[in-house]
This record gives sequence, C-alpha cells and structure tokens, in this order.
Amino acid sequence: MKPAVYFDEYGEEKVLQCLLCPLHCIIKPDQVGFCGVRKNVDGMLYSLNYGQLTSIAIDPIEKKPLYHLFPGEKILSVGSWGCNLRCNFCQNWEISKQRPKTVMRVMPQQLIQIALERESRGIAFTYNEPIVSFEFILDTSRAAAKEGIYSILVTNGVIDEEPMDLLSQSVRGMNIDLKGWNDEFYVKDIGTEKRVVLRSIETARKAGTHIELTTLIIPGKNDSPEEMREEAKWISGLSKDIPLHINRYFPNYKSTIPPTSPDSLIQLAEVAKEYLRYVYVGNIDLPGLSDTTCPYCGNLLVERRGMRSSVVGIDEKGRCNNCQKEIPIVF
Ligand code: SF4
Repeated sequence: MKPAVYFDEYGEEKVLQCLLCPLHCIIKPDQVGFCGVRKNVDGMLYSLNYGQLTSIAIDPIEKKPLYHLFPGEKILSVGSWGCNLRCNFCQNWEISKQRPKTVMRVMPQQLIQIALERESRGIAFTYNEPIVSFEFILDTSRAAAKEGIYSILVTNGVIDEEPMDLLSQSVRGMNIDLKGWNDEFYVKDIGTEKRVVLRSIETARKAGTHIELTTLIIPGKNDSPEEMREEAKWISGLSKDIPLHINRYFPNYKSTIPPTSPDSLIQLAEVAKEYLRYVYVGNIDLPGLSDTTCPYCGNLLVERRGMRSSVVGIDEKGRCNNCQKEIPIVF
C-alpha cells in the first residue's frame, strides 16, 4: 500500500474524501472508494494497487491507439486493476470491475529495468484505467524520464485538474477516451460529466503532451452524426491536427447491444473529416480507413495493416514527400 496524494479530512473523525477524481468519494475507515483501489486505513488514504500489475506485454504503439507518435514502435505495456467509471460495456471488465486473485508486484525501478531489458523506449499504462494508479504512474514516469524512457497513458480522462496537470507534465503522450458528445449518455451510462473529460484534454494539451482521442461508437448511444459533428467541431477548436480514432464497439460485460455496423463507422468518420485532418476507423479492418493520407494533396503517408504501419510518404524532415507540407507525426 502506498499513501495517496490527493485526499482530505471530511469533518467526521477519520472520515476522508478522495480528491483524485471528480467522484470525490467520501470514505469511512476500512472502506474503499468507488474505484475499489483507495482505502481508508485508520484515517489515512492508501492506494491498494501500487506496483500491482495484472498484465505486462510488448505491444505495437498503434494498439493504444497512438498513430502519430513513434509509428512502428513496440512499447512495454502494463495494466493494473480498478476503474473510476461504471460503463456496462467495459471492454476490460475482468481487471477494471473486480480485484484480481493474482497480481505481479513490480516497483517503479523494476519496471524501468524491464523496459530497458526488453529494449523498449517507452512504457504504456493501459488495459485498465491508469488514473486510479496515480501515485505509481507518477513515480514511474518521473523515474523513467531520467533513464530516457517515455511514458504514455491510455485513459478515460476522468480526473481532477491538478493531478491531470501533474500527469500531463510527466508523460509523453496520451490517448484519451472521449466517449461521445451526449451529456446524458456520459452521466447515465458512464458515471461522469463530459465537461470533465474536455477539461482533461485541454489540460494535457496545454502541458504540451501529445494527445490522440478515441470514441468507441455504441449503436443507439453515441452514434448520431449530429453529435459527432459537434464533437469534431470542438476538437478542431483545439487543433485540426489532433487525431481522432472512431472505434468499433463489440458487446462485452453487461452490454448486449450488437456491434457497430461498418456503415455507421464510415459515415461518422466522413462527418468528423469535415473538421479534422486525421480521422481513423479502428477495431475493424476497413481498407484505407486506418491509413494516414496527406490532408493537403491526398498522398498516402502511412499505410497500416492490422497493427503494423509502414511510413511510405513522409520525408526525413517530416514532410509529405509529394507536396512538402509538414505532417504532425512524431518519429
Ligand atoms: S479515485 Fe477512486 S476513491 Fe478517489 S474519488 Fe475517484 S473513484 Fe473515488
């Protein structure tokens, strides 16, 4: 157990309020917050999952998905357990909704050592929600940076502003879930407010963190073209160059809604492309829709098949090799 960073007393003896995410759980002694990983032990809040990993693997960075950061790179990817949201369509519910029976205990320095041994330039915190492992990620990413190893997060972005700012300053990139534009869907089905996620996206961007966004399209929940138009418009207000991944949903956990149709994904991608330069369709093999083409001349820049990517149209200065326009992909 590791003492939590963000909490305060709550007015009654030994009762605490966690201040890491907007749920602001009030936690009595011997109880845990909604995420299951923050426990009040005798008036002190602890992180229960510090250094506890449920999975560790080498993945293509494209799998996060991150398409505009170090394309083709393989990255050490780790997950822990716990989550601060209540999505009934969770794609990783075995580790997000329940405490696993077994975990690997890996401290920050050991994880950095593993990354070095496996010749990975980075560590991705993914699979479950990394925010609920805040202290572990902060410690690891800061120590890793000293060894020249970058960190990335795949996150729901549901976190208070100050901790988000701290994380943003210590990680190289993030894929943030923007689960649609429907406020009611966010409140009823997800358990938070959309504005919190928008604030996190803005905070990460202000800190200079590379960001890409993912929207998992669930039929009947967040698949309206009008909502996608509003979402893409908002993103374009930050930058037209922010990549948006429009992903196919499959039923999982408690959700029985059928998978997203290819036609719906294609239509939503077309809408998003009215405002954004880099829109990708993922979790489905639709030829060409996960490739990067030059938004100025249409030249094929990066070809992707499954999780493999080949850079075919970008020169050594990071420009389209046909029209010479600069392409915002970090190598
Ligand atoms: S991090 Fe966990 S305990 Fe803290 S407010 Fe969020 S859900 Fe509650």
